[in-house]
Amino acid sequence: MSAETTHIIDELKRALGDDAVLTGGEIGDRHKSDASRTGLSLPKAVLRPASVEAVAAALRICNAHRQSVVPQGGMTGLAGGANPATGDFALSLERLAGVEEIDAAAQTMTVKAGTPLEAAQKAAEAAGFLLAIDLGARGSCQIGGNLSTNAGGIRVIRNGVTRDNVLGLEAVLADGTVLTMLNKMVKNNTGYDLRQLFIGAEGTLGVITRAVLRLKPLPQGRATALCALNTYDDVIRLLQRAQRELSGLSAFEAMWRSYFSFTAAAENIRLFDSEPDFAVIIETEGAEQSAPLEAFLEGVLGDGLIADALIAQSEKERQSFWMVREGRSLDRLPALVNLDVSLAIGSLGAFAESCDAALKARFPAAHVSFFGHIGDSNLHIAVSVEAAGDSDLHEIDEIVYRLVASFGGSVSAEHGIGTLKRDYLGFSRKPEELEVMRRIKLALDPHGILNPGKVLPS
Ligand code: FAD
Repeated sequence: MSAETTHIIDELKRALGDDAVLTGGEIGDRHKSDASRTGLSLPKAVLRPASVEAVAAALRICNAHRQSVVPQGGMTGLAGGANPATGDFALSLERLAGVEEIDAAAQTMTVKAGTPLEAAQKAAEAAGFLLAIDLGARGSCQIGGNLSTNAGGIRVIRNGVTRDNVLGLEAVLADGTVLTMLNKMVKNNTGYDLRQLFIGAEGTLGVITRAVLRLKPLPQGRATALCALNTYDDVIRLLQRAQRELSGLSAFEAMWRSYFSFTAAAENIRLFDSEPDFAVIIETEGAEQSAPLEAFLEGVLGDGLIADALIAQSEKERQSFWMVREGRSLDRLPALVNLDVSLAIGSLGAFAESCDAALKARFPAAHVSFFGHIGDSNLHIAVSVEAAGDSDLHEIDEIVYRLVASFGGSVSAEHGIGTLKRDYLGFSRKPEELEVMRRIKLALDPHGILNPGKVLPS
């Protein structure tokens, strides 16, 4: 360790306490990479502040020494955003955790950034409310990470993305300035909405320390169905009918045949007699349980819009539908690449066909499958190429993102940009937009110490 680094670490230990600064062998492997498993270096030090004041002190010291800092939440991100580069310090939010307040009248909860999402959901539920942010990584991801990636998930069709569930937040700037904007009001038109700058910024503009989240009444019942369909046009028509006729629609998840057959077989779950070209999970929430969904399915079956449908008769059956959709078994495929893109809903079907053809033209033996949150225009693409090397993985990205650009889509729907999509940001954002982003970054972090190399192409 250089004399300069030792000096910074001594100063940090004096300000935060010895136990809040880890170095050398004290640094666990989990600080190396997020869930994309692309991180290569351990950070030089891990800072573990337990208060907002300590976060501010840590950043003030690092900024004065031009020491780069990577904020780390639950490390479940899929874009490499929390991965340290050689020489970075990590700033872990894990000790800044807990629910500060649930305000029943305002229907809000104020939460520290390091609180795991599931813990916040449980606290809301215990108070009779629903915290509507929800994703598969709920047990490990943190509220600060959810805000910083503007996470999506399976309930967006009903509740919006994370951004739509945040009323206020607190963030610490690179120079240690604390911006406390813990607003609880729905309406607040008092100039620029600074809160939105930090949501989806992936830790490049400030460190989020607290958030005020919107709560909703806890739904009394839930019903889940799995539908079989023949064409993507039918999937769109089903979505439109469901949005018109099912007031409690809370999930609409489509799986293309390639995905559904693979994951159902891998989980040893047989749902339909013959494999459908498209399978769709429809879930509703509300006071009544399955009656409105049953009536809806009878209608669309009678109109020939769907070929078949199953309604979950038990929690176990419901879990089996979701198990197929969550597709954990895909991880068994070699060199799996998960891509997350967004396109206008009407063009997702044509895009998937072109994408499948383009990938297989280059990699004939590739396993390519599609699934997604169709109501939110979000498609996930899982690609596996046996014995793929780095250049193959790069080529897969190139093929898919060029096609996304030609369809006028977005290279990231919900996972963010991090490092993995940084070089493709220009496929979806214009040079003028990138220039404004650079100016914002320079204004808030003039020395570029916060998560350098993430989001913005150099
Ligand atoms: P991290 O991975 O630790 O960090 C993510 C980014 O945020 C990094 O750039 C980091 O520097 C920054 N950051 C973290 N905390 C802070 C903070 N307090 N202040 C400033 N910056 C910060 N994502 C979806 O959108 N939808 C899904 O449905 C979904 N499902 C998933 C399922 C699984 C099984 C897994 C493994 C991941 C899934 N993800 C999903 C991706 C991931 O869970 C989300 O991106 C999540 O919001 C990341 O939270 P985290 O706390 O793990 O953040």
